[in-house]
Amino acid sequence: MEIEFHGAAREVTGSCHIVRVGSRTILLDCGLFQGRRSDVQAKNQLLPADPSAIDAIVLSHAHIDHAGRLPFFVRAGYGKSIHATAATRDLCEVMLADAAHIQESDAAFLSRHHKAHAEPLYAQRDVMRTMELMKGAPYGSPVDIVPGVTATFVDAGHILGSASVILDCTEGTTTRRLVFSGDIGRSDLAIIRNPVPPSGAHTVIMESTYGNRDHASVDGAKQELARVVREAAARGGRVLIPAFAVGRTQELVYDLHQLALAGEIPRLPIVIDSPLASKATAVFEKNTDVFDPTEPFVAAQAGNRAALFEFPLLRFTESVEESKALNQHVGPMVIIAASGMAESGRILHHLVNGAPDPRNTVLVVGFMAEHTLGRRIVEKQPLLRVLGEEVPLRARVEVIDGYSAHADRVGLGAWIEAVRNTSPALGDVWLVHGEPQAQDVFVDVLVKRGFRAHCPTRGTRAVA
Ligand SMILES: [Zn+2]
Repeated sequence: MEIEFHGAAREVTGSCHIVRVGSRTILLDCGLFQGRRSDVQAKNQLLPADPSAIDAIVLSHAHIDHAGRLPFFVRAGYGKSIHATAATRDLCEVMLADAAHIQESDAAFLSRHHKAHAEPLYAQRDVMRTMELMKGAPYGSPVDIVPGVTATFVDAGHILGSASVILDCTEGTTTRRLVFSGDIGRSDLAIIRNPVPPSGAHTVIMESTYGNRDHASVDGAKQELARVVREAAARGGRVLIPAFAVGRTQELVYDLHQLALAGEIPRLPIVIDSPLASKATAVFEKNTDVFDPTEPFVAAQAGNRAALFEFPLLRFTESVEESKALNQHVGPMVIIAASGMAESGRILHHLVNGAPDPRNTVLVVGFMAEHTLGRRIVEKQPLLRVLGEEVPLRARVEVIDGYSAHADRVGLGAWIEAVRNTSPALGDVWLVHGEPQAQDVFVDVLVKRGFRAHCPTRGTRAVA
């Protein structure tokens, strides 16, 4: 068996690894490279392999940096099965359609402004074809993906439907187990179940995003959220939350619902102002069977888990007019809107309207990359540039770190130790999905603990 690392090697996007077993070739993930257009355009257009030479694709989860190049691959001629969990398939339907929409609008914008024709990486019809190829599997049941290779999905505890993938590969009379961690979540995240470290591994491909840092606790995050909402409401102000529409928004709704029931926040309107978030919430409501039954709030709603995302204070907007009408509302309110880093989407007009008012709070609940509006808000720059306007930032800025969906240094270490404890023949551990500074710290930690750990670069080939 041979592994070739194509994406997310010494970086955090473009997850894609090629596995060759005998004459068969399997792709693990097919993610989009994300970042500045000039940096990623060429990488996204380079195919990881000839699509007709790939026999199966296995997907760890629906995040765009893991699934976002599938329609491009299908457009280029891939026509065989794409295996994922059922919830990942449902999320992909929503997220890939959104990604195609962004690709198409970006291409149209570029064509208009640079007077040269720009082609989107893929279009809606490619997404529809991709969804026809995608098969949803339950957790824990081996699926035959090509002769001699089965894939089993186990919970990765990262987002709804996320999985670590176990590939059992038989060549002749030997079967070897390759474990691909996917993105590893946290054991106390809301709604979804905890990560399950696989056993019996010979080789591991493991993410390392936060291999050099620790997070604040999840429970602390909910209490912080309550405090921020109470304080803004006491000033008569709004809480504006830029949030990713898939995952983070549903966690916030789940927490706000509990806080409202417990009387820990005042009665005020809570508005989810994002069509994508509405669609993603419907996917959560369809896949309640994979929720964590040990969470008291999930257990309390056992008869109707979809009701976790419905309560009288909460409403979802659809049209742009409804969204703009929120500006006329007087009094305290919570608005959750995409995009997560405040680079685009409806959060922008709420910031134009709300950032100058010192009664309001802008609440940051996710990582804000350099060069984004979100990062400038975290830095409390006094003057923001939003939708072409200069907007003074007089609202309070609060940051809650505890909502991260990625395991931190301690969590990653515990996951790989658990794999080793149940894998007597464990060989190489290949670290992927991490920036060099995080990987260099984490690989040192693992080597000192006796692991055969490495950080492959793009194009590295390894025998497993
Ligand atoms: Zn992810």
